[in-house]
Amino acid sequence: AKRIAGNSVVFCTPQLAANEARTMETENRLREAIAGNELEMYFQPQASVRTGDVVGVEALVRWHHPDLGLMSPESFIAIAEEAGITAELGCWAIQSAIAEICRMERHGLPPLQLSVNVSADMFTGLSGRDLVAHVRQALVREGMAPQRLTLEITERSIIDENGNGPQVIDALKALGVKLALDDFGTGYSSLSYLKALPIDELKIDKTFIMGNAKEDRAFLRAIIMMAKTLNMSVLAEGVETRDQLVRLYEEGCDLYQGYLCSPPVPAHALADVIKTRFPG
Ligand code: C2E
Ligand code: CA
Ligand code: CA
Ligand code: CA
Repeated sequence: AKRIAGNSVVFCTPQLAANEARTMETENRLREAIAGNELEMYFQPQASVRTGDVVGVEALVRWHHPDLGLMSPESFIAIAEEAGITAELGCWAIQSAIAEICRMERHGLPPLQLSVNVSADMFTGLSGRDLVAHVRQALVREGMAPQRLTLEITERSIIDENGNGPQVIDALKALGVKLALDDFGTGYSSLSYLKALPIDELKIDKTFIMGNAKEDRAFLRAIIMMAKTLNMSVLAEGVETRDQLVRLYEEGCDLYQGYLCSPPVPAHALADVIKTRFPG
């Protein structure tokens, strides 16, 4: 098989052609899954470091693949990006996370802050105005106050190649939703961006929570101090042990998320999960 890639002609081996076919099949399956509502939202509690009280949840998408079973997003978000369907996936995620939480609230779940991931692709793929319109529409449809929604963006969204990240961020803030900067510390954070943008929450990447070296602790302390200076709250990701939680408490971190508290669970399981007493 011969394909044109950029200016050069690439000859595919049969193996490559087979891989391509498999990807196409997965792409089509994913498209059908989004359209056919086969994706499922899971929710992971976010708790106060000081009290252990659950104050929010992060929505994390799962795909029940007919052959491969429950798939984590890392394995199919790349496929969605290649297929150019991140906007569809993102719209589905925003809409269904809000709808599911509101449905559980009608069944007695106390109101929680809801965090939804928005891929950098969505900032560029959907024009910013479409993203803002979609978020507004989903909130209005379910009757959720904008302040209760936090969109998790990454450093890639802020510094996207079209340069419209900051405008989209301003429009979302004008709508009233909160913004969290995800995976902080792993990207190309520029301190001037952090100072200029209306970010409400910093999510410290789990690599800095898991590391136990002196430098990790110094890094943690510096991030928390900086966030406080900028009036942001700080959430630590991937907290698995009590020792990690104690360290976070000592450093003044506000919130945490991780297996120590709970793995992501389906919406119907949330009410029971948050009734259990969490460490804090
Ligand atoms: P993320 O936003 O950084 O999400 C946190 C990931 O850490 C989740 O993986 C979660 O299950 C996992 N995790 C939670 N607690 C612990 C812990 O104590 N230890 C460890 N080792 N891991 C923990 P998951 O659900 O597989 O999601 C992976 C990534 O996929 C997410 O990273 C996010 O970037 C992306 N993603 C998930 N759902 C969505 C979505 O709806 N839209 C978009 N755009 N991206 C999503
Ligand atoms: Ca492709
Ligand atoms: Ca996230
Ligand atoms: Ca993260």
